[in-house]
Amino acid sequence: MRRNVSVVAGLMVVIGVAAVAAQQPPAAREDQNLKTFPPFRIVGNLYYVGMYEHASYLITTPEGNILINTGVPGTGKTIRANIESLGFKVSDIKILLAMHAHWDHVGDIAEMKRITGAKFMMEEKDVPVVEDGGVSDYRFPGGGKQTFEPVKVDRALKDGDHVTLGGTDLTVLHHPGHTKGTTSFTYTVRDNGKSYNVGIINMDTINDEVKLTNAPLYPNIIQDFASTFEKQLKLNPDVGVSAHAHHYNLHGIYKPGDPYDPNRWKGYREAVLALQKEFQDQLAKERAEQKAPSSR
Ligand SMILES: [Zn+2]
Repeated sequence: MRRNVSVVAGLMVVIGVAAVAAQQPPAAREDQNLKTFPPFRIVGNLYYVGMYEHASYLITTPEGNILINTGVPGTGKTIRANIESLGFKVSDIKILLAMHAHWDHVGDIAEMKRITGAKFMMEEKDVPVVEDGGVSDYRFPGGGKQTFEPVKVDRALKDGDHVTLGGTDLTVLHHPGHTKGTTSFTYTVRDNGKSYNVGIINMDTINDEVKLTNAPLYPNIIQDFASTFEKQLKLNPDVGVSAHAHHYNLHGIYKPGDPYDPNRWKGYREAVLALQKEFQDQLAKERAEQKAPSSR
């Protein structure tokens, strides 16, 4: 996550919050990761069941439900309680998905799989990383360590694949850069006689420790980021949500108890444009530093 975005007013507030979190000692950050948030309905059969910052989504169908993401290890019990408090059964989860193989989104997938017996599906390029618990993460060329419980993938997904259940048809979109297998999902849902294009979009942020011009385990990282922003800017979801609450200003546009309103989830395009600029700025900075290494 980066902290120098200054384009979108709505994003500034939440990124400011994240900047504070990043400056806190590890124990305080740990608390942020475990901070809870009341679950709620986003649109139609899509519900927010995640933590305060790390988003998890439940998609309900007559043939069982789909869960996208957990939070960090230890958040599974909160997510289960959230699902039950909405009146759904955890045992009805038939498919588990994740948007990318980082510990803060797949931390308790292994546990959810054990409890539900659901099939776990992941974009093929992130499969090795979830299956070794994060050890092969490209960010650690010197050798990574396990950051979450490894989990076996039942189906490897590719760009353009479909994940279908009970009349819901998710399109898998490969949006690499943040990780090699970063994934978004789109689908159409009808609610109250109206049709909504839903985008559950992984915003393509650059991790703090990543150098775009020096990523030995991810040589295509620059091309991947650039093409992902192009692809994401062609999408125009009526409802745009993301893997992190602050990426779509969840807490700025929704407060617990607010009435159901599927039309509030706007701001997608501005968020993508802001991150694209951040990527371009970092790339230009790194290239300038490489040209003039002695000038600082
Ligand atoms: Zn991540």
